[in-house]
Amino acid sequence: MKYSDLCKYYERLEETTKNLEMRDIVAELLQNVSSDDLDIITLAAMGRIYPSSVDKDIGIAGKLIQRIISKAYGATQNEVVEKFKETGDLGKTAEYFCKNKRQRSLMKKDITVEKVFRNLRMLSETVGSGSEGRKESLVKELLVSAEPVEARYIVRTTIQEMRIGVGEGTVRDAIAKAFDVSSENVEEAYFKLIDYGEVARIAKEEGEEGLKSVEIKVGRPLMVMLAERSESLEKAFEEYENVALEIKLDGFRGQIHKDGDKITLFSRRLEDKTEQFPEVVEWARECLKPDRCIIDSEIVAVDGNGEPLVFQNLSKRIQRKYDIDRLKEEIPVQVNCFDLFFVDGENYMNRDLRTRWKKLSEIIVEKEGKFRLVEHIETDSMEEANRFYQKSLRENQEGIMVKNLDAVYQPGKRVGYWQKVKETMEPLDLVIVEGIWGEGKRSNWISSLMLAVRDPKTGEFLKTGKMATGMTEEEFAEITEKLEDLIIKEDGRSVKVKPKLVVEVGYEEIQKSPKYKSGYALRFPRMIRFRYNKSPEEADTIERLKSLYNKQN
Ligand code: AMP
Repeated sequence: MKYSDLCKYYERLEETTKNLEMRDIVAELLQNVSSDDLDIITLAAMGRIYPSSVDKDIGIAGKLIQRIISKAYGATQNEVVEKFKETGDLGKTAEYFCKNKRQRSLMKKDITVEKVFRNLRMLSETVGSGSEGRKESLVKELLVSAEPVEARYIVRTTIQEMRIGVGEGTVRDAIAKAFDVSSENVEEAYFKLIDYGEVARIAKEEGEEGLKSVEIKVGRPLMVMLAERSESLEKAFEEYENVALEIKLDGFRGQIHKDGDKITLFSRRLEDKTEQFPEVVEWARECLKPDRCIIDSEIVAVDGNGEPLVFQNLSKRIQRKYDIDRLKEEIPVQVNCFDLFFVDGENYMNRDLRTRWKKLSEIIVEKEGKFRLVEHIETDSMEEANRFYQKSLRENQEGIMVKNLDAVYQPGKRVGYWQKVKETMEPLDLVIVEGIWGEGKRSNWISSLMLAVRDPKTGEFLKTGKMATGMTEEEFAEITEKLEDLIIKEDGRSVKVKPKLVVEVGYEEIQKSPKYKSGYALRFPRMIRFRYNKSPEEADTIERLKSLYNKQN
């Protein structure tokens, strides 16, 4: 296809902002190209050079393209910069200088879409010393042969700023319209191929049946499932009939493909990160029993004791392409497997989570502290769910995932089969004013603790709810020891204590409540740590509680 013909579509697309119109224009474009060109034209419709499954970068920045424009059209760099300031668009800048060029090109010839793709794809292969010069000539070659409008889109494609508003959704619907197939099947096929170009060719040549029979290929990344954010654990918990809860670790998504001895690791954005994590490759070979499989995991950095660390530590490893062996020692990781796509020829994405989890547990040989199943419980008890949540927070994890055990693996969209529950509230420093001696196993401890905020006007401590979770056995013992010395009144198992002991408390929400004198109650308060450095006069005040309540609502 001639590039100038493609540009006519680009111009029409740029003129409209209506989704349906855009879909129709792209559908018309797809119908008017040969099967051979369909791959690249589908990508071109989105202004892309590669499908998302290909982890390659053209690597041309604004400064370089300005220099190329100036060289291609005999303008000074300053003139280019000035025009760019005026238009705010490097594409239009190139178009302007192309129209008004001082150098007549002797190389005028029609450019094809294929030629544009060839040159731009070569950009990503061009690395190392002298690469800038070679990149320059690849783009310049296109620009000197281009008509003004072609220059506009060549430049925009090069810097990956198309400004025509065609995204994946438009292309999905355009393929469906152009080849009379359903958008759902187009999308399903896309999740497995991550290449709308290939999907379009299948839709055209093999129709609906072809799309349906697209198979998962080990070694090629799949689109992953995402979670919705839930307001509260309770809400998330009530959403599904059968619930699984998992720790939500703060790491990076690792999609691990095993094909015999060959292991490939993809990130959430489907970039190939295999080389950065040689130990993960080694463990996957060792710990995944099937010959061929694809699993979903969260890879976290761990400290010397094997405890997960926050994400920042990991980003170095994800980005770095050299010194890998040193970084491997400096920032050790742990793989936490939580889902399954494919095992030995069988697609598990259409099975429910219960089945996937069971199979996942069967195919993994855990390697202590290194390669394991994520912590996962299945329960219908809200209390147990809350305990699990509190535990995850105590362990400094992000929170938990609440998952529908009856749901399939639905990639790409936030469909509500998984929900993440995270702590967002700022913790409060509160004073313990009352307690209740526990029963059974807890009978040696004052285990239910009434928390209070300070009223700076009266010096009074105003109750704001009871806390019974978040403490370890050692902390219960420590609290009991401290409170015993502070008891001012005992009534059966209840004790009243001098307001002295300050603790940092996390919670899910602040609610208005007539039950407590402060007028507010904390939902699911949990102990974070002792605040021995704080006196009760330094505890949080009723004003702060009020303002946090207002902020939250
Ligand atoms: P967010 O990035 O906040 O949308 O949360 C979703 C991300 O949490 C996923 O992409 C995973 O990388 C990560 N994650 C951590 N633990 C789990 C888990 N147990 N199940 C699913 N995703 C998890």
